Amino acid sequence: MKPIERSKKLDGVCYDIRGPVAREAKRMEEEGHRILKLNIGNPAPFGFEAPDEILKHVIHNLPTAQGYSDSQGIYPARVAVAQYYQSRGIRGADADDVYIGNGVSELILMALQGLLNNGDEVLIPSPDYPLWTAAVNLAGGKAVHYRCDESADWYPDTADIRAKITSNTKAIVLINPNNPTGAVYNDALLLDILSIAREHGLVVLSDEIYDKILYDGATHTPTASLADDLVVLTFGGLSKNYRIAGFRVGWLFISGAKQRARPFIEGLNILASMRLCANVPVQHAVQTALGGYQSINELVVPGGRLYDQMDVAHRLVNEIDGLSCVRPKGAMYLFPKIDRKKFPIKDDELMVLDFLRQHKVLLVHGRAFNWPEPDHFRIVLLPHKEVLEQAIGKLAQFLPGYHQL
Ligand code: PLP
Repeated sequence: MKPIERSKKLDGVCYDIRGPVAREAKRMEEEGHRILKLNIGNPAPFGFEAPDEILKHVIHNLPTAQGYSDSQGIYPARVAVAQYYQSRGIRGADADDVYIGNGVSELILMALQGLLNNGDEVLIPSPDYPLWTAAVNLAGGKAVHYRCDESADWYPDTADIRAKITSNTKAIVLINPNNPTGAVYNDALLLDILSIAREHGLVVLSDEIYDKILYDGATHTPTASLADDLVVLTFGGLSKNYRIAGFRVGWLFISGAKQRARPFIEGLNILASMRLCANVPVQHAVQTALGGYQSINELVVPGGRLYDQMDVAHRLVNEIDGLSCVRPKGAMYLFPKIDRKKFPIKDDELMVLDFLRQHKVLLVHGRAFNWPEPDHFRIVLLPHKEVLEQAIGKLAQFLPGYHQL
């Protein structure tokens, strides 16, 4: 019998954060090894708990959340998201502009399915959160990566953005605060990028899922608050700021020149109704989260758990001769650079695989984030300081004696 092939639609689609190296880690766990998983931004397993009032509100609503909801989401959740963006300077935000989804991931996939025709190009940062590249390719589009400049705090290189625009460019993706680099963009940069989008009629896709995880006085401006004449799709959710990644709840908010986007919005409504609705009980978390006490603020200041972990990990990585790392201004990752004169790595995926096998610590190689050179990797900042110290200590042991043929 003929083998069952995977569909051609999956050519160019990959998500290496949970790819072959993570599968090897799983195999090792099944053999009885304890693996320290520094590969995914999943707060709960590291002891970050959801705010109590969110759990209480979800439990309280559970008995009445048994039916499907409106495809865009329950009204109180959508109003809460609209009011959140109103309070952040986006005029005219309305509950009808909000789509609640099973995490931002689902909404990224839906938005790109609804937006792209075959061959449409989307500008995506390099490095990126790789779902963006995968989702563009899956939707038949072409991911075109623009370079972010490590020597300039990982800010996007706007000259490179301009150079990569063609007549097929349809949209530009911003990830701010950025995963994996930790960059947080200032208004001047956002305005520059928006003026490029304006000049070329691009849709702006702004992934702001880490908008409350900010360090050292960094401030975050929603892209949409700077452009009410463009179509801006803002993505946000509860996975990170409120530590409930497993609940799978996020939103897409459309603002700006909505009239221009009418046909796209009609398409999005079809896609939203095809999957009926997002998980209903957890939609009740949105209003409580956005309206309540913002406990994340305690975690991201000196003395707060996330800040202190970031601070220690950043210092220790930079103390390793041959590694350097820009200090993150937001999110929860480090993206260190390997000096390849000191450590001649040819294959970064093989490096993280060998490190996993020798030291039982799982990292993600830089090329998984569509970074072109094999000279970076990503560490998640979620474990307690002592655990991070140990893991980075193992890296300091491993790298000097490590050689690839
Ligand atoms: N966007 C970014 C930049 C992320 O880092 C993640 C998860 O790590 C997501 C989107 C997806 O988040 P979720 O589907 O949990 O809402």
